[in-house]
Amino acid sequence: MSNKKTIRDVDVRGKRVFVRVDFNVPLDDGRITDDRRIREALPTIVELRRQGARVILASHLGRPDGKVVSGLRLDPVAGRLSELLGAPVRKLPDCVGPEVARAVAEMRDGDVVLLENLRFHPEEEANDEQFARALASVADVYVNDAFGTAHRAHASTVGITRFLPAVAGLLMEKELVYLSRILEDPRRPFVAILGGKKVSDKIGVIRNLLTRADMLLIGGAMSYTFLRAKGLNVGASLCEEDKLDLARSLMDDAAGRRIAFRLPDDVVVADRFAEDAAHRVVAVGAIPQGWMGMDIGPQTATAYADVIARAGTVMWNGPMGVFEFPAFADGTRAVAEAMAGSKAVTIVGGGDSAAAVQQMGLADRMTHISTGGGASLEFLEGKELPGVAALLDR
Ligand code: ADP
Ligand code: MG
Repeated sequence: MSNKKTIRDVDVRGKRVFVRVDFNVPLDDGRITDDRRIREALPTIVELRRQGARVILASHLGRPDGKVVSGLRLDPVAGRLSELLGAPVRKLPDCVGPEVARAVAEMRDGDVVLLENLRFHPEEEANDEQFARALASVADVYVNDAFGTAHRAHASTVGITRFLPAVAGLLMEKELVYLSRILEDPRRPFVAILGGKKVSDKIGVIRNLLTRADMLLIGGAMSYTFLRAKGLNVGASLCEEDKLDLARSLMDDAAGRRIAFRLPDDVVVADRFAEDAAHRVVAVGAIPQGWMGMDIGPQTATAYADVIARAGTVMWNGPMGVFEFPAFADGTRAVAEAMAGSKAVTIVGGGDSAAAVQQMGLADRMTHISTGGGASLEFLEGKELPGVAALLDR
């Protein structure tokens, strides 16, 4: 499974531990609208404190592009974290420099500080060596618990590991264990459900899953590119005209491998892209001119739910329709409910899919919901994530 060392493999008592977390939470006028990312990091922070470490947390927030942006300071995060931990969390004014060194020197075992937004410095995303050295200079051990940024080689995810022994946090470990298990040793049959916006975003994932899954169920906007590639008229549906050859070759590849590649049989179409658009259910071969596919139809939803009920593993990435509009959320809900009710190992990847599951109140009934949208996609493509590769092997 995961062959990386974790915080369980190192002695952190009395040590200064630099922990890269993903506290990139959504903010509305300085208020945190969803604190899931902070709560996901708690197990690692709690465990490090329990072991008597001095915990130095670092994260990015938003896209300040290398400048100080006051609306992207981490103070609200420190406040929320402090409430969740039931312990003070001192927010420092920067992530490097003499003030940080002084504050860290004053820390006692079990204390927690939060550095300022890493991306206020352009050197962070440039993976600058001097900046990485400066980050490392206040710590004895490095922990990466930010799976969501592990696909980026930045100073705080990769550069810093040249200067400190580097291990995975508990959230990082959990992500690696679940995601690598579905690629390496899935309980079969292994059903992959792919939807969302674009085929082009998910080509790599489809390619890799074609060598591992037993069945692919396709939904969302990307299904219209495949349907068009089969010669069907898709009306005004989203369709990547320049990806038709590619779509055809992916379907041929599936056929050659005898992997079931299922497209919708029926769809919900609308006369325009709007919440209150006129809509009806039609067979995929009968999308009216000027109408667009917004969701999989009820027949397809039932068929997909049956497959999910009999699966050993289900990996889902990408909503089945425009679930943000209630009239077009049924297909996505049917898949989410079938997964919630299935005995299969159920994994959700992709930011919008995770949001849908959350919104539908089914999150607790999934085996694992990945915290990393882009990172989980790259992992499922079979790529080695730089932030993971940089950690010590067991
Ligand atoms: P994820 O973040 O889970 O990987 P994507 O970002 O690929 O998913 O796609 C999610 C978006 O796709 C949603 O905003 C949803 O509204 C949109 N979408 C799904 N089906 C359709 C469709 N038929 N037409 C237009 N947009 C769609
Ligand atoms: Mg998305």
